[in-house]
Amino acid sequence: MGVMRKVLHAIAAGALAMALPLSASAQGLIRDAEIEQILRDYSNPLFAAAGLKPDDVNIYIIQDDSLNAFVAAGQNVFLHTGLIMEAKTPEELKGVIAHETGHIAGGHSVTREAAVGAASGTSLVTMGLGVLALFAGAPDAALALFGSAPQFGLMTIFKFTRAEESSADQYGLDFMEKTGQSADGLVSFMEHFRYEELMSESRRDPYFRSHPISSDRIAALTRRARDVSAKAQPQTPEAIQQLAMMKAKLVGFIGPAGRVMSRYPDTDQSIPAKYARAIAAYRAVDIKKALTLIDELITVQPENAYFYELKGQILFESGRSLESVGPHRRSVELAPKQALLKVNLARSLIGTKDDAAVLEAEGMLQDALQLEPDNAFAWNQLAVAYAKQGRIGDADLATAEEAYQLGDMSRAYNFARRAKDKLTLQTPNGQRADDIMALSDPRNRRGGARRGFGMAIHTEH
Ligand SMILES: [Zn+2]
Repeated sequence: MGVMRKVLHAIAAGALAMALPLSASAQGLIRDAEIEQILRDYSNPLFAAAGLKPDDVNIYIIQDDSLNAFVAAGQNVFLHTGLIMEAKTPEELKGVIAHETGHIAGGHSVTREAAVGAASGTSLVTMGLGVLALFAGAPDAALALFGSAPQFGLMTIFKFTRAEESSADQYGLDFMEKTGQSADGLVSFMEHFRYEELMSESRRDPYFRSHPISSDRIAALTRRARDVSAKAQPQTPEAIQQLAMMKAKLVGFIGPAGRVMSRYPDTDQSIPAKYARAIAAYRAVDIKKALTLIDELITVQPENAYFYELKGQILFESGRSLESVGPHRRSVELAPKQALLKVNLARSLIGTKDDAAVLEAEGMLQDALQLEPDNAFAWNQLAVAYAKQGRIGDADLATAEEAYQLGDMSRAYNFARRAKDKLTLQTPNGQRADDIMALSDPRNRRGGARRGFGMAIHTEH
């Protein structure tokens, strides 16, 4: 994602009513370095098979138990956590992603215009899953952190036509074929839900409201899927394990506590099961158990960056900032391209209240922001790091950046103005303060590009 974001010409979304994700139980966009990496591993070959540049396609994860996936406003793929949690095989999830990629390849979303309406100025949560879980039941804390970010509004229910659905199916089959993967998962996913065809519109899973299903469609899909699957390679053990890890993590972090116990009982000594139980223990503030389990996992997979991330998080959130630095540092060493891991390390460093550590945190956050300039939480932490060094002008500027990324233009403007008063205009930061003021100036705001989903939403009527 570049600094100058693509303009959203239209939101072509499934039924989507989102509220600002103030708590883990609320619906919203979530970030998680590990899950994003796995979804990339799953999706990039399909995007490439579609002739798209994988880096140009954004993948968003929406915390919602229902089954849904959709593309919006060009090359943006949205996946509900429910879809990931319920996928039985990698092919099922990949098949759905291939189908969505088919909508992009077919130009189905960009030719449609659905009213964006109140969705303008949506806020993008750029915090990790675990951090989000912390705010369950503490919306005030989240509100303080996110500022007065505007809420997700209602997006118009968008429905593809049957012709578009069939075309996306065929494209999806092409992409599975080109990547040598079985299409059986896509067929079984559709078959599993074919009874939904008989249901009234409102009772269907959102996926089948936006992607109408029909017996004809399944028949056409099945016919060709047979050929595609006959030539396919089986999924690698890694791909199968990756799905198990994503599911374990999601169930652990956002599933009801009972689900962890029923899906991952103590008798299950597999890595995903221990992972889910470690996360559940952390959520239940059973720190001792959480640490024991994560240490067992680290012993088995000492090169797994995300195990160290979780350990660091457990320590940090239980007030042991100094001890959390080591695991977070190790996670950054093992996965140096992951901005979210750098932000975690920076948070821990700031938490130590040590001057040298705060300075290191500042550098770490700047690295993270090189990778993800729209990471509002990284800007938030950078403001903290500056403030601790008494660099108030720079802190105000970082807060302005944070507000800007969250789409809160009046806050962005106010903080940029404060920053400009304190900074020298001839410096890069002074210039940037001036730029943000111009970008968020109330006189220029109306009718201009607004921000949302980490991109500008351009409303056209
Ligand atoms: Zn579709």
